[in-house]
Amino acid sequence: MLHMLPKLPYAYDALEPFIDEKTMEIHHGKHHQAYVDKLNKALEKYPKLQNKSGEELLRNLDLIPEDIRTAVRNHGGGHVNHSFFWQILKKDVEPSGEILKAINKKFKGFDVFKEEFSNKAIGLFGSGWCWLVLNNGELEIITTSNQDNPISQGKIPVLGVDLWEHSFYLKYQNRKNEYLEAFFNVINWQQVEKNY
Ligand code: MN
Repeated sequence: MLHMLPKLPYAYDALEPFIDEKTMEIHHGKHHQAYVDKLNKALEKYPKLQNKSGEELLRNLDLIPEDIRTAVRNHGGGHVNHSFFWQILKKDVEPSGEILKAINKKFKGFDVFKEEFSNKAIGLFGSGWCWLVLNNGELEIITTSNQDNPISQGKIPVLGVDLWEHSFYLKYQNRKNEYLEAFFNVINWQQVEKNY
């Protein structure tokens, strides 16, 4: 069973002007596709692993044969991270419900959370992701390098933002703070609440 590039639940231009059409087209059609292809390639030698979901593979990387472990970590991570990311993007959804309550409680208000999350994201050196995760039932903001996913550390991703330059450079160049501001305008809080 091959891993497949998931269809986007919206058009490439649906997140304009916050995330531009061209970036979405390349990000989904080229970058994500490449992670999928390279994951499938890595699994060619191991038919038994081909039946596992990307999440299952990442949850216990120690069980992955050593010769493909790095490839699964990087490309499996790339596939899972991006599949997750597309789902949590949507315009015009306000934070509400249980997730808003939990954020307010944990971070002393939504604005404090937004600032902490953005600062952590902007402060990440190199390529990676910033996440809101559940760690033993507690909300926590963490960053991961490259395509590492929090589930490899036993944490549950609730919200995440791609901080690889390919996700913002066409429109924002070095202005990562503007990208983060834009990201906060396209968070699908209904999906985030589901994840929570
Ligand atoms: Mn990306």
